[in-house]
Amino acid sequence: QPTLYLVPTPIGNLQEMTPRALQILNQVDAIAAEDTRNTHKLCQAYGIQKPLLSHHEHNQGVSIPQILARLEGGEDIAVVSDAGYPLVSDPGQRLVKEAIENNFNVVSLSGANAATNALVASGLSTEHYLFYGFLDNKSGRRKKQLEELKDFPYTMIFYEAPHRIEDMLQDCLDVLGNRNIVLARELTKLYEEYIRGTIQEVLEIASSLKGEMVVLIEGKVSETKAFDMEGALKQVQKLIDGG
Ligand code: SAM
Repeated sequence: QPTLYLVPTPIGNLQEMTPRALQILNQVDAIAAEDTRNTHKLCQAYGIQKPLLSHHEHNQGVSIPQILARLEGGEDIAVVSDAGYPLVSDPGQRLVKEAIENNFNVVSLSGANAATNALVASGLSTEHYLFYGFLDNKSGRRKKQLEELKDFPYTMIFYEAPHRIEDMLQDCLDVLGNRNIVLARELTKLYEEYIRGTIQEVLEIASSLKGEMVVLIEGKVSETKAFDMEGALKQVQKLIDGG
């Protein structure tokens, strides 16, 4: 059965291409790529020679019917983006939806994703979390989006471009208050770095930060939690007092 494979690619470290991802790229009939120049370089690095089909946000009206026609003709197609998972703040959602609607097999492979890398090493709660991706790049709309997240009690994960990080953090400070945050930079690369502190502390050095970054913000700490903490301390004190 013709299959659409969703293949994650490295987010910075070429060693993070899995053997299965390489096997699938070598086996499919064509690779649908967000940017064929970047995917061409990636394929060169691994010695993969396959036809590359351009598939991105601005040409998907044309590229999706072409890809579906190839699947219809019995071909297997891999979908890749420039880095990490396709569809995660990257093109591919509409293609997958239409492939499913047309009863084609859709298979995703395991691999690199900046948000998950950042989350698990952040030190923030991982029990529940929200992946938001990019906030709007206009301050007014961004603040509205943040207002909606103000009472969210779990860790929130954002992607942001380095030239917008100061403005974004300033809006976070204004709307969410001075919470704990973690900025995860250049993940899996030579200068990988985690900057931990309050929004205000990180904002002070934000203008000097370059490279790709993930911003993780602590969820709202509920008053119930604070109350429980006090209660727990009182109980401990009681035990001490009681011997
Ligand atoms: N599809 C990708 C994924 O699965 O993570 C995300 C693509 S999105 C267009 C690019 C954003 O991901 C960057 O602006 C940055 O926020 C984040 N990102 C990608 N690679 C990263 C890295 N090596 N270190 C930190 N953040 C990264």
